[in-house]
Amino acid sequence: MEKLVNPQNTIAVIQKYDFCFRKKFGQNFLIDEHVLKKIIAGAQVGREDMVLEIGPGIGTMTQFLSEAAGKAVAVEIDKNLLPILEETLAECENVRVINADIMELDLNALVEEENGGRPIKVVANLPYYITTPIIMGLFESHVPLDSITVMVQKEVAARMKAGPGSKDYGALSLAVQYYAEPYIVANVPRNCFMPRPNVDSVVIRLSRYGRPPVSVQDEKLMFALIRAAFEQRRKTLVNSLAGSSRLQISKEQAAQAIQRADLPEMVRGEALTLEEFACLADACKEILEEGC
Ligand code: SAM
Repeated sequence: MEKLVNPQNTIAVIQKYDFCFRKKFGQNFLIDEHVLKKIIAGAQVGREDMVLEIGPGIGTMTQFLSEAAGKAVAVEIDKNLLPILEETLAECENVRVINADIMELDLNALVEEENGGRPIKVVANLPYYITTPIIMGLFESHVPLDSITVMVQKEVAARMKAGPGSKDYGALSLAVQYYAEPYIVANVPRNCFMPRPNVDSVVIRLSRYGRPPVSVQDEKLMFALIRAAFEQRRKTLVNSLAGSSRLQISKEQAAQAIQRADLPEMVRGEALTLEEFACLADACKEILEEGC
């Protein structure tokens, strides 16, 4: 069949099935072939790869992934899209469609079943209402993966790439940069989608590190410290840590940890690098253990 990405074909499919876009599922379908080709090239997908697509919609990107990859698994929450996908992907023998909520799927089991546990590539035009939980879920559940190439809201991409001192810098920047190297593949204006969203988008590739760029004794503690530090970003670090319900730490212990990590007494969390947060987490762990 002709490629869907042609806007006329997209409209024809939508009319044929009397499909109603559901805002609550973040349904904005890509209608620009140039952008689609950039995503596939940027994702560096080859015949040896298994790709996981989150939210295939009517199958626009899936058709391209089917040509580029060895195998593609597409997970779609909206059951109204299933008959459409059956038609649009009828010739794509290497594609499996699963009707499920990506947040509830056991992805480790899926990768084991479909790819013998070998790392996969995730490629998606993400539903924006759950971008961060999807990306963090993929990293934190240690699903074997090489890279995640995703369309996200422009502001979210800026947060993923930001460094200390920038207004965009926060817990998402540090989490993404602990697990992966971010690279901007393309800027995508809002008129490349149907219906047209209210925001511009960016395609970003997150290439997973074999080993994180910093070493830390207790990853969980480091991320609890990071979240506490940015919860009230205008406070000094010592007050943020001592005041957070995420940590059982007194003001004296927080001050001691900051001193042991060689950080200025009045520093704010937004000034710390990933390496400094790792150092702070190691110091905190020592102090909490001494207190036991
Ligand atoms: N890939 C298509 C494209 O580029 O044209 C559609 C992208 S659209 C932005 C997001 C898609 O994700 C929709 O098809 C939507 O139904 C689906 N979706 C939303 N929430 C989901 C979830 N929790 N699990 C799986 N799919 C979801």
